[in-house]
Amino acid sequence: TEACLKAIDGAGALNAFVHHTPEIALERAAEADKRIAAGDAPDMCGLPIGIKDLFCTEGVPSQAASRILEGFLPQYESTITAQLKSAGAVMLGKLNMDEFAMGSSNETSVYGNAVNPWRRGNDDTQLTPGGSSGGSASAVAADLCLAATGTDTGGSIRQPAAFTGIVGIKPTYGRCSRWGVVAFASSLDQAGPMTKTVRDSAIMLGAMCGHDPKDSTSADLPVPDFEAALTGDIRGRKIGIPREYRMEGMPADIEKLWDDGAAMLRDAGAEIVDISLPHTKYALPAYYVIAPAEASSNLARYDGVRFGHRARLDHGDGITEMYEKTRAEGFGTEVQRRVMVGTYVLSAGFYDAYYNRARKVRTLIKKDFEDVFAQGIDAILTPATPSAAFGLGEMSDADPVQMYLNDVFTVTVNMAGLPGIAVPTGLDKQGLPLGLQLIGRPWEEADLLSSAYALE
Ligand code: GLN
Repeated sequence: TEACLKAIDGAGALNAFVHHTPEIALERAAEADKRIAAGDAPDMCGLPIGIKDLFCTEGVPSQAASRILEGFLPQYESTITAQLKSAGAVMLGKLNMDEFAMGSSNETSVYGNAVNPWRRGNDDTQLTPGGSSGGSASAVAADLCLAATGTDTGGSIRQPAAFTGIVGIKPTYGRCSRWGVVAFASSLDQAGPMTKTVRDSAIMLGAMCGHDPKDSTSADLPVPDFEAALTGDIRGRKIGIPREYRMEGMPADIEKLWDDGAAMLRDAGAEIVDISLPHTKYALPAYYVIAPAEASSNLARYDGVRFGHRARLDHGDGITEMYEKTRAEGFGTEVQRRVMVGTYVLSAGFYDAYYNRARKVRTLIKKDFEDVFAQGIDAILTPATPSAAFGLGEMSDADPVQMYLNDVFTVTVNMAGLPGIAVPTGLDKQGLPLGLQLIGRPWEEADLLSSAYALE
């Protein structure tokens, strides 16, 4: 813990941690020492970790990287951070992210962007760590903490993991409690671990999941011993390669990474099968209807009354002006864009044409996966991202759709509620990390981790 606190102090340029909690960290580390001495050390006893700013942590600023939550000090702890604490983990502080988890580059944060510790060869252009869990990815990759929590609505654990050469798993929807995690799109949001290795992810996931009566979508299922599943034996497993993910214009580096990954799994005894997920191309547009729709509804609670920021009002302003001024000041551009898109697709005249149609597309996407799993496929191998980490400003200066295209391989997984993991498996020509994604059957994270372990 002390070494991490020192590393964090020396790594301000990465802008990964946005709130430091050294007092809490040292107190928990001392407790962990006592538990270890007493022979009662749970799985994560004494392990220093970072927490994404989306998680409510009691008495510690939890702003979802938004101005609108300025000054908000939760009175309670999210279920996941409470579980991590009882597993002995030591919180070092809160991590940077895109505002309300909307973004793929950590550039929409009120704290400014986090920075990727990796560079392209000798070029010192600063790169994005990805998003929205960019601070988590940067902190783990730069050894500021041993692991971090992330959340993933359309790729926000897996894309930053791939951009920084670490492992990130988004569990099945319902595996981890969403209670106390600031909501973006409730039917898509899932938390998960971001770690250096697959084994670390297995251990941390075990501490994070489990049934929570406070989240009505939390699954009442036993939590398997994920670490015990890492046997390295994947003989006879059927791994599908979806032809629709071989996108036109895919960089040669990514194609090669994908082929090499398939060969690696084949050498380990898996059977590689060509599969089809025919509705893939509709996933991204449908996601960018459903996610903003849910966000516009979830973000209605930020009204200047109940949480955080309230605009300074002029004499004679009424409640409408208070809402308008507070929300105009408190939300950044991308969040405002999502609220407007979401409100539009939910409005009476457009509900059927956009929102309902997107929900139907979502059902078809889910069915694509069910069909291949019914054919005996155990896991699906795809690239995690369409490129390596890009430069800061490179995408955010373009039109927003360019940024949205980053999620092309990851959003399908959230739409279908499936578990997905990103594993670093190579470098591109410029020496930047690249990751592959494995998608698993619902609730079979143990199997998924074990296939990922064979890729590592
Ligand atoms: N990049 C996607 C978005 O901006 C996904 C974000 C996420 O998974 N939280 O919506």
